[in-house]
Amino acid sequence: MNLATLNLPEQIGTVLDAVVALRQDLHAHPELAFEESRTAGRVLEHLGAIPELRLRSGVGGTGVVALLNAARQGPCVALRADMDALPIQESTNLPYASEIPGKMHACGHDGHTAALVGAAIVLSRMADRLPGRVKFLFQPAEEAGGGAARLIEEGALDNPKVDAIFGLHGWSDVELGHVAVAAGPVMAGTRTFALTLRGKGAHAAYPHRGGDVIAAACQIVTAVQAIRTRRIDPITPLVISICQIAAGQTYNVLPEICSIKGTIRSLDATALESAWKQVQRTARAVADIFDVEAHFDLVDAYPPVLNDARCARLVADVGRELFGPDQVADAHAPSMGGEDFAYYCQRVPGAFFRVGVRPGNASDWPAIHNPAYDFNDAALPTAIAMYCGVALKYLSEPSSTLCG
Ligand SMILES: [Zn+2]
Ligand SMILES: [Zn+2]
Repeated sequence: MNLATLNLPEQIGTVLDAVVALRQDLHAHPELAFEESRTAGRVLEHLGAIPELRLRSGVGGTGVVALLNAARQGPCVALRADMDALPIQESTNLPYASEIPGKMHACGHDGHTAALVGAAIVLSRMADRLPGRVKFLFQPAEEAGGGAARLIEEGALDNPKVDAIFGLHGWSDVELGHVAVAAGPVMAGTRTFALTLRGKGAHAAYPHRGGDVIAAACQIVTAVQAIRTRRIDPITPLVISICQIAAGQTYNVLPEICSIKGTIRSLDATALESAWKQVQRTARAVADIFDVEAHFDLVDAYPPVLNDARCARLVADVGRELFGPDQVADAHAPSMGGEDFAYYCQRVPGAFFRVGVRPGNASDWPAIHNPAYDFNDAALPTAIAMYCGVALKYLSEPSSTLCG
């Protein structure tokens, strides 16, 4: 299929105002993981009027799955957007800034959701010409809780079986109008943990009568870094970050509890699991020296996102066809950020790619998870075109020769 003959830019132009309005509305009303009922409602408002779509709501909690051409035979390709926001106080001062204190779309999932709604409308208009089916996954809880896994558990990749899946993320390091992708690992696997240290509290003047959780915590924070430098192959990407320590209330009392939060990231699943075991072992051994108990809770454990080589090539080909070769990076550097898109890639061939949000004349653009981040509306046409393009390209050629 030659994408140029479909006149995608003109098609996208007819939905763009509605998609921008939806994006800004979602931005003003951010919802955290598994609370995205208003967001899902807005998605359903737009898609409910399209007779070619079969809709399922409440999937995996608040997810929406829309199937185009349900009655048709042929391959089925899935396109995924995530819907959740983050517990961050927004600092953009935009006219459509978050109206909810302490919550914002700092990862741009408002942009992903709005773009996928746009793609669903555009592709529905081409339903007669599609040699297969398209499944649109509007997923809850990417930031926490693994909404992708919930969607899969509730059959989002079945009936009909999904043959390949594609997802995108707005990216500040990539210029507006550009697309970046790579084969193999593109996002890190994660082990996000809470560590609670418990000891016997004591007077500051008599530390030997208690178990000092603060002293233990300081040693643990330092000791776990030796796992990265001494226990993991130096050429394997892996990072351990301790991001929160909370303990004590005053100057002269050694507290009983210290709470530590942190995360381990790696592009290599084996190294990740090894580091996670060694962090626990190290923390328990150090805690023991201080007569302190160490208890771990694993909060999240996403696998690395592994892009199928043929699906990644398809993304790059579509980007070149739509925007020209200079706008596409096909060996883009991976990120140590985590993404639960990994769960889909464990089940079916897929590719997760980046769409640029940084204007070409800007040397810098707020990064995701920053209180000043805003998914750039100017990136929406690129995102919609890529969603449409990868689905059209995949369906127009036998799946066996493409992904998998
Ligand atoms: Zn995020
Ligand atoms: Zn994100």
